[in-house]
Order: sequence, then C-alpha cells, then structure tokens
Amino acid sequence: MPDRPLRLALPNKGRLRDPSLRLLRDAGLSFEQTQRALSLGVRNADIEFLFVRAENVAEMVADAVADLGITGLDLVEESDRSRDDIRPLVRLGFGHCELTVAVPAGVAHDLPENFSGLRIATSHPNLTERFFERHGVEVDIVRLRGSVEVAPKLGIADAVADLVSTGSTMLVNGLRQALSILQSEAVLVGPSAGGPEIVTVTTAIRAVLEGRRRRYLLLNTPETSLPQVTALIPGLEAPTVIPLAQEGMVAIHSVVDRDEVWNLLPKLKAAGGRDILVLPIGQLVT
Ligand code: AMP
Repeated sequence: MPDRPLRLALPNKGRLRDPSLRLLRDAGLSFEQTQRALSLGVRNADIEFLFVRAENVAEMVADAVADLGITGLDLVEESDRSRDDIRPLVRLGFGHCELTVAVPAGVAHDLPENFSGLRIATSHPNLTERFFERHGVEVDIVRLRGSVEVAPKLGIADAVADLVSTGSTMLVNGLRQALSILQSEAVLVGPSAGGPEIVTVTTAIRAVLEGRRRRYLLLNTPETSLPQVTALIPGLEAPTVIPLAQEGMVAIHSVVDRDEVWNLLPKLKAAGGRDILVLPIGQLVT
C-alpha cells in the first residue's frame, strides 16, 4: 500500500454519481459535495475521492491509480482488464439495468442463432462479442459510443445491444428486447489482491446496505400477547423484551426486513401489539 490516502474512483457525472456519494456519506464519511472537483479529501478518514468517467473506473483500479472504485458491473465486465487485475467486491443495490439485445419491433428473432451474420450496434462490444461467442454465433459488431438505439433506423445495424432499465427508450425507438446479456447494477470494484485497508471500506458499505434492507421495530404489548407477537418478529437473534413501568405490559424491539413491514403491521396489531414504531437503520453489522 503506497504512503498516501486510500483512493476511491467515483463517476464524475451520470446516474451513478449521486447515489454513490449518498452511500459513502451514509457509510460515515464526511466530505464537501462539489460538482466540479476532480479530487476531494474526506474529512474524517484518510481517503481521497477521484472523480472520473464511469467507464474509466475499472481501468484506474486495475492500474492501481485508485485502490477502489464505484461503477456499473457492465463496465467492469466490459473493461479489457482481466479478473486477475480487478473484481467486483460488493453489489451496491442501485444503478440496476440490463444489457439487452434488441431488434426492430417487427423482427421475430428470439434466439442467439437468429443473429448469425447480423450487424449489432453497441457500446459494449466485448460483452456482446463474448455472449454470441458462448453461443457459437458469429456477429458483426458495430462499435458506437452513444445513441446506440437509433442505429437500426439509420440503417447502420440490424440490432442493438444496449442498457435498459425501464425499457421506455427502446419502445420510443421502435425496438423490442430479444435477449439478455447481463443484469447489471453499481458495484464496488477492487484489485483482485486487496489489502486490509479495503476491509474497512467494504465493512462500512455492507453495513449501510444491510441497514437499508431492514427496519427497527418497537411496540408495546400486554405480557399475555408476548408469544403471538414475538412469533411474528423473531429479530436477528431474538427480539428484545423490556418490562414497562405499567404492570403486565412489555416493550418489544426487533429488526425486520423492510419488505415485510407492509404485511407485518396489521398482523402485529391483531396479535396485541400497539404503539408500533418503524424506524430506519443507518448501518447494521451482523
Ligand atoms: P451514465 O454515466 O449515466 O451513462 O451511467 C453509466 C452507467 O449507469 C451504465 O454503465 C450502467 O452501469 C448504469 N445504468 C443504469 N441504468 C442505466 C440505463 N437505463 N441506461 C444506461 N446506463 C444505465
């Protein structure tokens, strides 16, 4: 490890920038947020952020210019650097999208072999080529940097391989999704042989992600309802049960999955729970 702050390469713009900074702030790092800075020191840790294009993050980590990075899994997989240099360390739960092969709406192709000899426009040439190679199909890759989805209309490609999240851009451009190449989301990427200093960052980030998936639940209930209520909320180990000043009443604290809260609330109430509070969890290390 060089004698300098730990460098974290982050997207300087685009859809991954703001959620990346939010995650790092939630992980406990304190920093000034400015739009134009190329690098930024963290106040409360020996860490420096380097703001670069999302597609350059993997390369910077592979070259050890940065020690860690945040970018799309698609861009890590697309980069020419092998698994020997870099690897995705943590899936970050935002920037979800799918690298999809799409065809003009009237075209019925649905199997990789249907694309044999066709021209496919993409800004992910490596992933697209590898996908068709895996299926033993030879295609003609047309490398484009942006606006991939207009290529069929312009007559420069028969199909596209592009990122889709809602699918509305494809629809507007008269395209239909035919094949899926990769499910992507933002990832923390690091060197294949990372040092111990990286564990501090991954632990704090994982703790945020664990916290976001869960809620802290507090409620009061008569002691007689305890078995029914605790059966609904087993918690991480077991729920905390605290006697209240009022005889025969207890408070229960527990951690529950965020997605279950919706169904749990009426069941808890029916089981005898009252004064139910649902609170967010900043970080959770299990
Ligand atoms: P941007 O800088 O905004 O073009 O973002 C680039 C990265 O954001 C992509 O490489 C993906 O990992 C991710 N992303 C998430 N959703 C989408 C989408 N619908 N279109 C393009 N990129 C997306």
